[in-house]
Amino acid sequence: MSLDRDDVRNVVAEVRLGNPRALGRLISWIENASPALPTIMQELAPDTGRAHVIGLTGAPGVGKSTTATSLVRTLRARGERVGVLAVDPSSPFSGGALLGDRIRMQEHALDRDVYIRSMATRGHLGGLAVATPQALRAFDAARFDTVIVETVGVGQSEIEVAQTADTTLVLLAPGMGDGIQAAKAGILEIGDIFVVNKSDRDGAQALVRELRTMIALAQRGPRDWKPPIVLTVAHEHRGIADLLEAVDRFRTSQMETGRADARRVARARREVESIALAKLRAEFRLNGEAGLDGLAELVSRGELDPYAAADRVVVGR
Ligand code: GDP
Repeated sequence: MSLDRDDVRNVVAEVRLGNPRALGRLISWIENASPALPTIMQELAPDTGRAHVIGLTGAPGVGKSTTATSLVRTLRARGERVGVLAVDPSSPFSGGALLGDRIRMQEHALDRDVYIRSMATRGHLGGLAVATPQALRAFDAARFDTVIVETVGVGQSEIEVAQTADTTLVLLAPGMGDGIQAAKAGILEIGDIFVVNKSDRDGAQALVRELRTMIALAQRGPRDWKPPIVLTVAHEHRGIADLLEAVDRFRTSQMETGRADARRVARARREVESIALAKLRAEFRLNGEAGLDGLAELVSRGELDPYAAADRVVVGR
């Protein structure tokens, strides 16, 4: 489907009015890497930069969806408009009609101030690093106060998603060998707040102790924010108020120190870089692949050095 600027403008205008169907369409365009993305982003840009983005990361089954749902309830009670974006970096499904979404939407089905949506990013030009901030911009334009971004995948993708958040919550649960896993995946460094969910289970206190030691070891240099550990029982809505209180404290501290802005700039920088690299790759594919193969042969035979070859690709295009 080809979209002209008027189509985009109409949908963006509806998004601004908080029309959930328009937001759904917009996110589908983002998900499917519509060729109209540059126009879409141009139209959205003036409306962005307000929403607070909370990243939720942790191993599958640890309770991310349950915690997100519980957070939505508390944030709604405060009168906020709340979005949830579940990012699945690998799933080929699209359209926001995943079964999980429909089930999760039930509690908030009639509430226009809540919007829950899954997004797959496979095949997206620039991948997760581009698609996620773009979808966040759509939520932002739709005047959501808080957007919770939750990853479905594991590993590197979780870290990437966390990097797009203003506040990153790392979830762990007892009995999953999580402490060690977390250290391996490098998620100790990215957590602003740690959540020991399923704290109704045995081993929660032991996990808190283990985590406390590991956080202390993982912290580099002096920092004025010592990531707190909050205990929750998400499916019973316990500890969620404490968790939000920790989020508020973190936000205040980030704003006071100017780190909140610095983090947003870093996020925009990564995004621009990812788009630029994706464009470069796409250009190779369109008209340079043959050229690249030719250059690679020359390099492999020692007839050209790799720096000169790269220069021909980047500079001498
Ligand atoms: P996700 O894969 O990280 O999104 O995890 P889910 O939110 O889908 O939760 C996985 C399972 O753990 C579900 O059956 C939840 O009902 C259950 N669960 C979530 N939070 C808690 C908790 O605090 N305690 C216990 N015992 N179970 C929980």
